[in-house]
Amino acid sequence: MNCKKNYDVIIVGAGPAGTTSGMILAKKGMNVLVLERETFPRDKLCAGLITLKTQELISDLVGQDLSKLQSRGIIEYQSTAYGLGNTQDLFYQGKMEYPFYFVKRKIYDYFLFEKLKSSGARVLTGQKVIGIDCVKSEVFTADGHRFKARFIVGADGAMSRVRNALSRLNVVQKPWLDGAALALECFIPRDEANFYDFPVIYFGYVPMGYIWSFPGRTAYCLGVCSGEIRDGRKLKKILRDFASKSGFSLEAMENIRAHVLPYGDFEKKPGYRNILLVGDAAGFADPLLGEGIFYAHKSALLACQAIKLTFECPANAARVYARLAQEIVQEMDYARFWKAVTFKLLSLNNYGLLKCVFAKFSPKLVETIHGLRSFKWLRPKKWSFSLLT
Ligand SMILES: Cc1cc2nc3c(=O)[nH]c(=O)nc-3n(C[C@H](O)[C@H](O)[C@H](O)COP(=O)(O)OP(=O)(O)OC[C@H]3O[C@@H](n4cnc5c(N)ncnc54)[C@H](O)[C@@H]3O)c2cc1C
Repeated sequence: MNCKKNYDVIIVGAGPAGTTSGMILAKKGMNVLVLERETFPRDKLCAGLITLKTQELISDLVGQDLSKLQSRGIIEYQSTAYGLGNTQDLFYQGKMEYPFYFVKRKIYDYFLFEKLKSSGARVLTGQKVIGIDCVKSEVFTADGHRFKARFIVGADGAMSRVRNALSRLNVVQKPWLDGAALALECFIPRDEANFYDFPVIYFGYVPMGYIWSFPGRTAYCLGVCSGEIRDGRKLKKILRDFASKSGFSLEAMENIRAHVLPYGDFEKKPGYRNILLVGDAAGFADPLLGEGIFYAHKSALLACQAIKLTFECPANAARVYARLAQEIVQEMDYARFWKAVTFKLLSLNNYGLLKCVFAKFSPKLVETIHGLRSFKWLRPKKWSFSLLT
């Protein structure tokens, strides 16, 4: 195997976490290599809901305000209304001051990928990473290449190879263990169904999970996730039964696909020495709803901060990152608490009570999801998006 050039940083994966890390570090003048197994534009199974905090972070990151992101089609749909349902019907319908936005991941990720390419980072696509030497700080690809760097960022998603390599050293958990959910999803053209034109989440169909219907400009995204049912066929049947009862065309559901969703299996210390895990690779999706796009961007910002600090003044980057990432870990811990409360309430099967509780807490919970409050007792919060300027 031939060892190519040494880099300051190698980033594995070019999803939201990888592109954010690559862009920021390259703009800081670092010698960055991004290795991505797919070629772009590529799809990623995701419902594409983004919140106010994500929109604000993205606008800062790419220097484009909301109206620009909308006019360029990066954000394709929005809704200030939302609904919560159970196996019988919608039991709560709310209205928010700020909308939920929707993106198509093929477009969103390609947009970020192009920004990454123009940032000065070296980007190699079609390069599947198959191994990491955590001691020598080297990365091996399926094509037989070997690359070396001072820092390695694992931004390679829920089934992360980088996390797997670290788990063999017993410094992090393996990916896809307790806490992760199996998620199934399909897109149904809007003219083939007549459903709510706002996002709805239905509880009660699956244990430790939910069914969702999110509208887009041209299609509904219909999906199901469960932290307990690991049998894809069983989940598929539940989703098809729901779809048929809700008037969706079953033919349009032939394209159901599955993916792992981090759902509480986050790492409290997401790294080891000079190897840092970001986004899904660290299990950073909120354990209540599985929102992961924001945490992919945000953890990437924190990892960049840790790399910049330890680049200038050598120290254990993973320790610095773990300290910075406490902001995310704390949110995840409290979101896990709300998840336990929510599913406990649901298990009581008292929908009168549910309705009252959701009517009382939903507005604050929605503000939390938008980033205006913390999952810690729903207190007001302001996320910062320092881009290392
Ligand atoms: C069904 C479903 C619905 C979801 N809906 C939402 C939602 O509505 N809103 C939300 O906020 N979040 C949602 N999520 C979560 C969200 O998709 C993830 O949290 C987010 O994509 C994480 O970004 P990432 O950059 O960490 O990883 P990814 O987006 O998974 O990107 C990882 C990248 O690494 C590449 N890669 C993987 N392995 C290798 C390798 N060995 N070598 C090289 N490259 C590699 C992949 O090709 C990919 O490009 C959903 C997830 C699922 C499964």
